[in-house]
Amino acid sequence: MIKFNQIVRNKFLLILFSCTLILSLGNRVDSQTSIIAQNFLNTNYGNNYYSAMLEADRFYKQGDLQTAKRIQQKVKPDFPASNSVPVAVSDIAKLPTVARQDWDTATQAIKEDPQDDKEVETRIFEPLESLVDNYPQFVPAHILLADTYDLYGWGDDALNTIEFASQMYPSREDILDKRIELLLAYGEPLEASIASREFVYSYPNSPKSSTYQSAADEYFKKYQSKLKSKIARNSVFGGIGQAAIGNEAQGINLGQMLLQGESATGTAIANSYKAQANMISDPVQLSYIRGIGNKLAKLMGRNEFEYEFNIIEDPTPNAFALPGGKIFFHTGMLELMDSEAELAGVMAHEVAHAVLSHGYKQLGESALTNTGMNILSGLAGREVGAIANVGGLLLDKKFSRGKEKQADVLGIRVLDAAGYSADGLYNVMAKLAQLEGEGNMAKSLLSSHPASKERMEYLEELIQTKGYNRYGYEGVAAYRGVFPR
Ligand SMILES: [Zn+2]
Repeated sequence: MIKFNQIVRNKFLLILFSCTLILSLGNRVDSQTSIIAQNFLNTNYGNNYYSAMLEADRFYKQGDLQTAKRIQQKVKPDFPASNSVPVAVSDIAKLPTVARQDWDTATQAIKEDPQDDKEVETRIFEPLESLVDNYPQFVPAHILLADTYDLYGWGDDALNTIEFASQMYPSREDILDKRIELLLAYGEPLEASIASREFVYSYPNSPKSSTYQSAADEYFKKYQSKLKSKIARNSVFGGIGQAAIGNEAQGINLGQMLLQGESATGTAIANSYKAQANMISDPVQLSYIRGIGNKLAKLMGRNEFEYEFNIIEDPTPNAFALPGGKIFFHTGMLELMDSEAELAGVMAHEVAHAVLSHGYKQLGESALTNTGMNILSGLAGREVGAIANVGGLLLDKKFSRGKEKQADVLGIRVLDAAGYSADGLYNVMAKLAQLEGEGNMAKSLLSSHPASKERMEYLEELIQTKGYNRYGYEGVAAYRGVFPR
């Protein structure tokens, strides 16, 4: 059994690294709700859902993909038609007159460089903003609007504008180039590195992939040297947080740890974590999740990481990624899943978090602002699990939504590329949404924040617009062979 103190301390690490897969149901999941979640797909998609998946797998393995698909289609209802993003347009002549007028007004005024604030507003920003709102498919307007915000010193607006455009058209190099340029200009080299890397892994066949790959490495080095000088400066004033990740008495200098790089940082935290948690050592289960984890990690790059795939005895349905590709599954999450496609869906999402340096960035921010780690060590002595849970939710709500989407975009691409049904993660989200609906505590906390439901809609749209295959390998028998029901 894990001591309560240890549970509490583990929860604090989760605040730092967990994504929205975490579910706040207190320290234990009611077995009744777990059963409800397990049966969710059966009751919603027809009561023979997993037996149909078993049958489809048999045909899939014989190479009869058409029959496998037909069987799956019978029990998997179509996703609603997505509000798909309009096809991008670069030529203003293809838009209606009103759009052309806005574009001409703004570009002419920018040339004339009006000095009067009101004129700037009415002749430049109003027509450009209206163009972006009404004809978001016209890519040059996003870029010009971002540039113009930048020119007038409105950095946040410039970044938000280009971020929005980038979410609509993630494969457009012109948008990505502008985004990288602005991120660098506003002192965000790690974000610039992540943006470049995301492109490389999402569009590996693009001729510009290798250019972005070297750019990603270069910006990462830039970030590290920036971190180094900031840490050196802060150390003079004693401002760097001590990370309470081991026994409370043994603080670790977070700054020094981060400078050793992503993989070493992840190893240090993971080792400390493993010393506290109740680790599962079943060789069959471990070798199964490691096989799937390594297979997916290979499709995402970052070969410099020493990947790890671990299982923790903990009934909370959660999975999380530490920097450098150290992935942890709770037994509660494994119990919630019924197929290899579901496991691979969660796995791909977590590996994507690590590949995109999300945890490392979060730690870097904590080290520099000195807040995260103080909160961590300040609360570590208190035995109030609920606070940890609420904190986790608030953090999620506050800044991880964009990161969750990044991890979904890359994760689902890799899930599909590996031949699994692309709705594996979606199905786990459906079960989590069901649990959110059932758990009393979760209900009150989540009523204003229906995380999993929102994620489901987003995943539906992603799978639809990218044309990913929902009728691939499910691996029900394989999963149940290792994690029997
Ligand atoms: Zn996540």
